[in-house]
Amino acid sequence: MYLELFSLKAKTAVITGAARGIGFATADALSEAGATVIITDMNGEAATKAAEELRAKGRSIDSETLDVTDPRAVERVHAAIVAKHGRVDILVNNAGIAISNRPAETMDDPTWLKVIDVNLNGLFWCCRTFGKAMLEQGGGNIVNVGSMSAEIVNRPQEQAQYNASKAGVHHLTRSLAAEWATRNVRVNAVAPTYIETELTRYVYDDSEMMKHWVGNTPMNRMGQPPEVAAVILFLASDASSLMTGSIVTADGGYTAW
Ligand code: NDP
Repeated sequence: MYLELFSLKAKTAVITGAARGIGFATADALSEAGATVIITDMNGEAATKAAEELRAKGRSIDSETLDVTDPRAVERVHAAIVAKHGRVDILVNNAGIAISNRPAETMDDPTWLKVIDVNLNGLFWCCRTFGKAMLEQGGGNIVNVGSMSAEIVNRPQEQAQYNASKAGVHHLTRSLAAEWATRNVRVNAVAPTYIETELTRYVYDDSEMMKHWVGNTPMNRMGQPPEVAAVILFLASDASSLMTGSIVTADGGYTAW
């Protein structure tokens, strides 16, 4: 009975920024659980390739090009997915960028605006469009990818715009959850620690930075994308049916110290 709660059979899930990294691992996890997954990414070619990789494993996968910072494109792609697949049951807002080592006092306007635009505005455009349809169809489930950076200030790299954008994601998660709770649309978030992906690649050859990152983590290591995807699978499934407005930390203990 309990394992069945994790099944996503007959569900349709859309994941943003899913051509690689945490989003791709999430597409793997959700499709293994039985969902039809639509991999969306700003890089359409990479999304198509990622979809082919999972289809080769026998999964039900589609792909779309989607830049989440364009609210009209979000509406268009949502309409195209509904026309093809009937409805969307699960939305995973994963697309995100980080621009680090930017002290606040010298941060230029585009650097501030770009990170807020992808991580917070883009996530809201998706929640608004997909969430409205979920309310109209009588239910749905949204999982946002936040960060431990919403709760702590990372060191030693300066990235005030990233930290602020993820704090916005966490509180937007709670706000939408409260608005939509009685209408059967749940909204939760996962808050990961440092995960080994392209986003953190710039640090791998910097032993001084790695000393901070890993040394400040009780588990003494970074995380892997599947370790985040597994939490997203839990939040996307009926196994978490009592949860909404929750921020689930997956940080190797980082925020415990
Ligand atoms: P990656 O950089 O590996 O993957 C992010 C994907 O999102 C890329 O395919 C990228 O496409 C795509 N993307 C970027 N901008 C947009 C956009 N405007 N619209 C649609 N897609 C876009 O990152 P991760 O897998 O590491 O990160 C995924 C999420 O997890 C992000 O929200 C990140 O903030 C969060 N996170 C990551 C942590 C980490 O340590 N890695 C820690 C905590 C949270 P392209 O290749 O074209 O750039």
